[in-house]
Amino acid sequence: MSTPNGPDAPDGPDGPDGRHVPHRLPVADAATARRASWRLLADDGRAMAAIVALTCLAALSGVAGPWLLGRIVTRVENGELTVGQVDGFAAAVLGFALAQLVLTRYARYLSHRFGERALARLREEVVERTLALPGRYAERVGAGDLVTRSSLDVGTVAATLRNAAPDVFIAVVQVLVILTATFLLDPLIGLCALAGLPIVWAVSRWYLSRAREAYLAEGAAAGGVTEVLDSTAHGARTIEAYGVGARQDGVVDRAVDTAYRARVRTLFLRTVLFPVTEFAHALPTALVLLVGGFGYLHGSVTLGAVVAGGLYMWQLVDPLDRALNWVEQLQSSGASFARIKGVGLVSQEPPATGLRPADDRIEAVGVRYAYAGSHDVLTDVDLVVRPGERLAVVGPSGAGKSTLGKLLAGVDAPDAGRILVGGVPVADLAAAGELGNRVVLITQQHHVFMGTLRENMTLAAPDAEDAAVLAALALVEADWVHDLPDGLDSLLGAGGTELGAAQAQQLTLARVQLADPHTLILDEATSLLDPTTARQAERAMAAVRSDRTVISIAHRLQTAHDADRVAVMEAGRIVELGTHDELVAAGGRYAELWRSWSGES
Ligand code: ADP
Repeated sequence: MSTPNGPDAPDGPDGPDGRHVPHRLPVADAATARRASWRLLADDGRAMAAIVALTCLAALSGVAGPWLLGRIVTRVENGELTVGQVDGFAAAVLGFALAQLVLTRYARYLSHRFGERALARLREEVVERTLALPGRYAERVGAGDLVTRSSLDVGTVAATLRNAAPDVFIAVVQVLVILTATFLLDPLIGLCALAGLPIVWAVSRWYLSRAREAYLAEGAAAGGVTEVLDSTAHGARTIEAYGVGARQDGVVDRAVDTAYRARVRTLFLRTVLFPVTEFAHALPTALVLLVGGFGYLHGSVTLGAVVAGGLYMWQLVDPLDRALNWVEQLQSSGASFARIKGVGLVSQEPPATGLRPADDRIEAVGVRYAYAGSHDVLTDVDLVVRPGERLAVVGPSGAGKSTLGKLLAGVDAPDAGRILVGGVPVADLAAAGELGNRVVLITQQHHVFMGTLRENMTLAAPDAEDAAVLAALALVEADWVHDLPDGLDSLLGAGGTELGAAQAQQLTLARVQLADPHTLILDEATSLLDPTTARQAERAMAAVRSDRTVISIAHRLQTAHDADRVAVMEAGRIVELGTHDELVAAGGRYAELWRSWSGES
C-alpha cells in the first residue's frame, strides 16, 4: 500500500519503545558518503593500483611528444640537427603518441571492469539493505522513495562508475602530469599555465556548494512525482468513484511543479559553470604565448620551450574539459550515492536483542495509531487473544481492521500503547528478525514467484518433503495442482503456468500452512475463493494445530459465526467483543450486521 505522502512528509513520532520511526528514509551525510566511496575503491585495491600505474605511464607518454617537438625547434634554430636526426625525433614523437594511446586504452579498459565490479557490489548491497529494512520503515516511508533509490539513483551511480569516474580519474592524472611538465620546461611558463586554475576552482566551488542541495532536491522531487503517480494509478478507480479527479490533478500538478522548479535550479547552475570554464581554458594559452614570446625576444626562454608550452596548454584543454563535463554527473551521482547509502543507515539501527516471548498470547493495550499526516485510525484498542483461539474481526470498511492486523503482525508499531506477544513488543520482535514464524500476516496481495510449484511452496520451509507440500495444498483444496503438467516441478509465472487470482490465494495459504506459524492473521486472505472453499480452508488451517491462533479479518460473517469470539470494530475502536451467540443475544451492532447478512444469504 502506498501513501500519498512523498518525501516531504514530516518525521513521525517516536514509537512507544522510544525508537524513532521516521516518515522518510535518511540520506547519508557528506562524510559518510565519502568514507563509503573510499571503501568502494579500497575493496578492489589491486585493480586500483594497476589503473593508477597505467594512467601515470600514459600521461607521461603524452607529455613526451610536445617536449621532443620543443627540443627539435630549439636545436634546429641553433643549427644543431641534421634532417636524419629530425626524422629520428619525429619517429620518437610518434612512438610516444602510440604508447599513450595503448596505455590509455588499457587503463580505461581496467577502469570499466573496475566500475562494473563496484557496481555489482553496490547493487547487491542495495538489494540486501532494502530487504533488511524493517517492515514498518518500508510501510511508513512509502514505495516511491524506495523505488527511486533502488532504480533511478542506482542508475545514476552506475553511469558514473561506468564512464564518469574512470574518465575523470584519467583526466585528473593527465592535468597534474602536464602541469608538472610545464613547470619543468620553464617556471614562468608553468605559472602562466596555472592562470586558469583559480577561475576553474572558484566557479567549481560556487557550483558544488549549491549543486549538492539542488540535486538532492531534484532527486527528492522526482521521488515525490513517482510516489504521487504511483498512488494515483493504484487508486484510479477510487478517485473516479469519489469524483475527486480534479483534486488529485492538483496534487499531481504540485508534485510536477516542484520537480520542474528543482530542475530549473540545477539548469541555472550549469549555465554559469560552463561559459566561465571556457574562458578559463583560453586564458593560459594566451598568457603562455604572450609571456613566452616576450621572454624569447629577451632571450630568457627558448623558442622550443614556448612551442612545447603552447602545445601543453592545448593538451590541457581536453582533460580539463572532460573532468568538468563530468562534474555535473559526479555531483548528481554523489547525491544519489548518499541517498542509496541512506537506505543502509536504517538497517544499521541496532536491533533489540535477547527478546524471548514467554508464550504465544497476543495482547493490545491502549493502542493508538495514525498514518502520516492523518487523524487517529485506532483509538484505545484493548484486546487479548488467547493461544489457540479463533477470533474474527468484523466491522464497516475503514473501521481500522486491516491496520490492527498490521500492528498485531508487527509490520508497524503503535504511536501509543503496546502490542505484545508473550510480553514482548511485537514490532521489536519483527525488527530484530525474531518474529520468525510465530506470527504471519496474509493479506489479499499474493505473489507467485517465477519458479517451480515446489520452489514457490518451500520458500519459508526449505526442508519440507513433497508429501508435506501436497498435504498443505490439499488442505486448502487446491485440486488444480493435479492438472499441472509436471506436478510439483511445473513452472509457475511468466513462461510457465499462469495462476489465476484465486489459485494464487490458495498457493499463499498452503505456503503459510507449510511454514506452520503459531498465529495466523488473515486479512481478507480467502476473499477470492468461493464461499464454501474459503470456509473449508479457514477451518482446516485453524484445525491443523489445536494451539494455533487464527485472527480473521472478514467480510463474510460466516467466518465470524465459525469463530470462538468476534470483535466488532467501528471508527478505530473495538465496540463489541464476545462469542457469536452472546453478541447476537445482546442485540447490538453485531446482531444488526448478522441479521442483515444472514437475511440476505
Ligand atoms: P478496514 O480494514 O477496517 O477497512 P483500514 O485499517 O484499512 O480499515 O483503514 C482505516 C483507516 O486508515 C481508513 O480511513 C483508511 O483510509 C486509512 N488508511 C489505511 N491505510 C492507510 C495508509 N497506508 N495510509 C494512510 N491512511 C491509511
